[in-house]
Amino acid sequence: MASSNTVLMRLVASAYSIAQKAGMIVRRVIAEGDLGIVEKTCATDLQTKADRLAQMSICSSLARKFPKLTIIGEELVVWVDPLDGTKEYTEGLLDNVTVLIGIAYEGKAIAGVINQPYYNYEAGPDAVLGRTIWGVLGLGAFGFQLKEVPAGKHIITTTRSHSNKLVTDCVTAMNPDAVLQVGGAGNKIIQLIEGKASAYVFASPGCKKWDTCAPEVILHAVGGKLTDIHGNVLQYHKDVKHMNSAGVLATLRNYDYYASRVPESIKNALVP
Ligand code: AMP
Ligand code: MG
Ligand code: MG
Repeated sequence: MASSNTVLMRLVASAYSIAQKAGMIVRRVIAEGDLGIVEKTCATDLQTKADRLAQMSICSSLARKFPKLTIIGEELVVWVDPLDGTKEYTEGLLDNVTVLIGIAYEGKAIAGVINQPYYNYEAGPDAVLGRTIWGVLGLGAFGFQLKEVPAGKHIITTTRSHSNKLVTDCVTAMNPDAVLQVGGAGNKIIQLIEGKASAYVFASPGCKKWDTCAPEVILHAVGGKLTDIHGNVLQYHKDVKHMNSAGVLATLRNYDYYASRVPESIKNALVP
């Protein structure tokens, strides 16, 4: 166990700098001007040159630093989203974008790093651009100031570019005071831990394990909860289905308030 803890800490430290480097690539591609956009499955499921270059950079760095990762790959799995919020990236909503590196042990998400390359991008030319948030279960989460939404306020954050009737019906059922539609799973978890939103509600398939792994750890490390729309804990072992078919429900506080308001008809429509 001592040696696996050492591997975990080395992995988290490396993921921190690897995510920062990926964030620099994400900024460079925008600065160079050619996004190289490719449609994956449809017009809202995009990939850019930044997704491709950041992915290559993250994977080659991990392989170089951890050549033996495959040996313990049965137990330790790294879930990488080189660029989360690609649709928003292509539309200039740059602070929606994150680089996500999540680490799972025996199917459970235990450590995560979120780099936000364009944090502060509207704060003027002298502002330091970008930040890295990281966390380990049982240790805590760092790189931000934990803040809660004012008591009694129900502010829902949900998808901006992948909505449908189930998504909007479920948000409405929460009886929200306000609804925020923003890009990125990483970005929405940042809204939860910084007091901008009370619940991330996404009653639809579409979001993948690499979208939720790192954000889930950061949220859990500060006492929050992320599940599918039924309340099931998400699994992250290497053979798990990539798609979070039964959506996402995440809160920093008052999880039960939101979980109890998911309509049965929506639960029936979303099979895990
Ligand atoms: P969003 O909240 O729409 O930014 O989605 C969070 C993450 O899930 C992003 O990485 C999206 O690309 C992904 N996602 C959600 N819905 C879909 C969908 N219908 N098709 C493809 N990707 C999706
Ligand atoms: Mg993503
Ligand atoms: Mg992505």
